[in-house]
Amino acid sequence: MWAIISKLKNKIRNFRFAKSLRFRIFFIVFLVGIVPCYILSEIILGSYEKRAVDHRTSEVQHQCTVLADHLFTSDYLNDVSNEVVTTELEEVSNIYDGRIMVVDAELKVIRDTYSISQGKYMIAEEVVRCFQNKESTSNYDDRNNFIEMTTPIVSSETGDIVGVMLTSVSTESIAATLRLLMIRIQYFMIAIIIIVLLTSFTFSRMLILPFSNLSRAMGEVKEGFDPDRLSLPDYTEMEALSEAFTHMLSEIRHLEDSRQAFVSNVSHELKTPITSIKVLADSLNMQEEVPNETYREFMQDIAAEVDRENKIINDLMTLIKLNKEAPDTLRRENVDIEKLLEDIMKQIHPIADSRGIELILEVVRPVVAPVDKTKLSGAITNIVENAIKYNIEKGWVRVSLNSEPSFFTIVIADSGIGIPEEEQPHIFERFYRVDKSHSTEIDGTGLGLSIARDAILLHDGAIRVESENGEGTTFTIKLPR
Ligand code: ADP
Repeated sequence: MWAIISKLKNKIRNFRFAKSLRFRIFFIVFLVGIVPCYILSEIILGSYEKRAVDHRTSEVQHQCTVLADHLFTSDYLNDVSNEVVTTELEEVSNIYDGRIMVVDAELKVIRDTYSISQGKYMIAEEVVRCFQNKESTSNYDDRNNFIEMTTPIVSSETGDIVGVMLTSVSTESIAATLRLLMIRIQYFMIAIIIIVLLTSFTFSRMLILPFSNLSRAMGEVKEGFDPDRLSLPDYTEMEALSEAFTHMLSEIRHLEDSRQAFVSNVSHELKTPITSIKVLADSLNMQEEVPNETYREFMQDIAAEVDRENKIINDLMTLIKLNKEAPDTLRRENVDIEKLLEDIMKQIHPIADSRGIELILEVVRPVVAPVDKTKLSGAITNIVENAIKYNIEKGWVRVSLNSEPSFFTIVIADSGIGIPEEEQPHIFERFYRVDKSHSTEIDGTGLGLSIARDAILLHDGAIRVESENGEGTTFTIKLPR
């Protein structure tokens, strides 16, 4: 059981190894080095063998044709006592380490240089075919190392075949040369394999080195090293990779920083009203005889602080909800924007009236657009409320609506205290409040604009602020139709 498990583990480990880039490079370089060498050696051996056999065949064939002529002219087929021809036959068969059989028209072997089949009948297929086709044949048997050929003995008078010479010659010498060549090639291949192994090992190591360096540098960055150390200009691709990693890292760090800033802001903002409540309650507790008015006054202050805490929590919850939502979760419906603005103004009128601020609504071109009514009206309300909050006594707030073919704009301008230029880029940040002296006088959480901007971005819109310190502020909201 354990043996099987360890075998399986090994297999998986092997598989992981095969997945490594280094192994693949090693394998490819190895293949590219070895396979052509192997193919080349096979081609060389094959072509040598073919050439050698062809050469031997044509040489023997030529000798046999000459012999066949002699056989006919000396009338050897009818009288085998001709010593000259017999010696000639023997010589040729000795030179080529072979055997020659002379077969007459009755398929009878009249001469065999081995003297084994003499007098017997030869009905071999090649012999019969040679009689029929009147042409020589040759057949190479590479397993038993011989070439067998037939040569017709043709009558020079009639042109008829009067007999066939069946010759077989040994190719042992060719095979021996082949074996020698093979041994040499094997040595050569072993040398090549060793060289290729070493080359591919070094090559794969060299190619993979930048990757190992990068992953080591990434590891060090993870442990808190400077991300600049990631700039390894080895390959362009690696540069892109390390750049992407550095970018991602700084994004993560930025996210982490802003998360921490957000948490500490939240705790601070939530703590402030509670501290006030505690101070108010303690001072009430410490006094023995508290007059009714003081008691009431303190309780009103405590209630105001509770309201403030409540507002912060509500704003936070809205913000978190907006951030969690994807644009496709917007509950869009066709909304008459003029009507929406009128409703907001109606709702806010009492606050404006209490400070003698004039509210003006200007509609240049009305528009009906698919928006999330609740979210958009929340965002606009917040901006209009700000325009009243940060305004001067008897000032004005003007809301105007205009539309173009593909988008519409809502402009909220006021005659208020304005925002200093250097503060303008920050006003959409969470908990950001301009000028802390105002923030003690004017109630607010610093979350309103952040919520408004998130709602507008969810609608694929944009918001811009223009302001002159002491002169007034204009917010421009641009939304697609
Ligand atoms: P708050 O709850 O403080 O109003 P906001 O996020 O709505 O928070 O606004 C952020 C800050 O931007 C405010 O504290 C205020 O200083 C400034 N601000 C916003 N609107 C106006 C405006 N219309 N005029 C002047 N200052 C403004």
